[in-house]
Amino acid sequence: MQRVGRERKVGFACIRHQLKRAAGRTGQGAVMGSKNLKAVALRGSQSLSVKHPEKLLEITRRQYDYARRTKIFEITKRWSNLFAWVVNNEREGIVVRNHRSNYFPEGYGHIDVDIFLEKYSEKMLACQQCAMHCQHRFTIKEGPYKGVMGEGPEWIAPVLFGAFAGNTEWDKALMCFEKTNRYGIDSLTYGLYQGWLMDIYDRGLLSKEATGGIDFNWGSAEAMEKLPELINKGEGLGKVISHGAEEAIKHLGPETGEFLYRCGRGLTNEPVNDRILRATCLGDQTSNRGNDHLRGRCNLEFMGLPADVLSKIIGRPTNPDPYAWDTKAFFAMWQQNLNTMSDCLGLCKFWTQWFAPDLFGFEQPLEVINAVTGWNMTKEELWTISERGWNMEKMFNVRDGEDRRHDTPPKIFFEPIKEGARKGLCLEPDKWNALLDEYYELRGWDKNGIPRPETLKRLKLDKEPSHIL
Ligand code: SF4
Repeated sequence: MQRVGRERKVGFACIRHQLKRAAGRTGQGAVMGSKNLKAVALRGSQSLSVKHPEKLLEITRRQYDYARRTKIFEITKRWSNLFAWVVNNEREGIVVRNHRSNYFPEGYGHIDVDIFLEKYSEKMLACQQCAMHCQHRFTIKEGPYKGVMGEGPEWIAPVLFGAFAGNTEWDKALMCFEKTNRYGIDSLTYGLYQGWLMDIYDRGLLSKEATGGIDFNWGSAEAMEKLPELINKGEGLGKVISHGAEEAIKHLGPETGEFLYRCGRGLTNEPVNDRILRATCLGDQTSNRGNDHLRGRCNLEFMGLPADVLSKIIGRPTNPDPYAWDTKAFFAMWQQNLNTMSDCLGLCKFWTQWFAPDLFGFEQPLEVINAVTGWNMTKEELWTISERGWNMEKMFNVRDGEDRRHDTPPKIFFEPIKEGARKGLCLEPDKWNALLDEYYELRGWDKNGIPRPETLKRLKLDKEPSHIL
């Protein structure tokens, strides 16, 4: 019988919904497993009351019609967010072969988006009642993996199962991605471990004996097929990586740890070249659950927007140059607050300015909130609620001993890029520290990254128990 990551209490097991949807990354599935909780099902028996139903209908129609006319809507319903794979590879924003480089030209003509659309995609799918249709249903139609069927993949799949693993074949990438989904393990975290194992194998730090005889060379089909299965069975190398980075390094030797890149909170760092993006790096690294594109990634930073357009969105003069250091602290905070608002409302981030400049900021959800509740909430109040959410999460971390050290990117981000158009670029420690100081000041935190008492009071969190539990 197939076991799932959750029941094995794999440290990166997800809570799953449908074939691809997941609450992933930080092991919520393992928490369910530890409670022997198989599933959660909800059914409502009461209707929702809306204060101004006609107004709500008008707002919804208007916002919906607007969104359907945006350029990003047209792009997404054909390519899904796979378009970002092309964009990020071209601008050297990805991580190849576990940080050896940031550009994957050998993938061209092989692991291209157009090839995926032509050979694998069968139709576009959407979540219930969403017009965006942002994911594919795909099937592998021939070859050794014939019949493998799944949903997605997001753009990070060809990065992790392609470039990061040194693999140029869609078949292998989709097969491996799909296995992680079926087994309920987080594909992002899995892919990072897989690339690391291939890297240390290549460096002679992982022997064939230690892999159980499996070939872990770059792009190895055998490794990509067997490693998810070993995790699922709780055996061999699968078991070794199931319980987190520290355990894996302890097992495989301290010399291997140098090549497993983790953020200050210990979470494996996502396979994106954030050292060339100031606001994005700050937003990602200061995210409360560790390096986190869903909380802090500032996608608008690398879209080449004119300064006046970006500044209008952010609400302050903002430098659109991704390598500039000025104005980036507020940019990161704005992004984190916008994403906190989305999370509080259950609003998909693909409909917000996290994803594209012409989508929704704070104003559109605010209109809906006021129509539903009859309140007269202001944008400032909604901003404060987001700030409160962010700080409340932060206080749980502080309670567990967190401070400034935990906002530090992996060491490799301070090392110059070795090749390509961005050669020589990196984070400079002095500038990074000054940016962090500025961010803490904006947040109302002290130099050590701890919310000041007056900040907690302003946000009505001074009596909130997380930090005194
Ligand atoms: S845009 Fe969001 S809500 Fe719509 S289909 Fe995609 S993930 Fe689902």
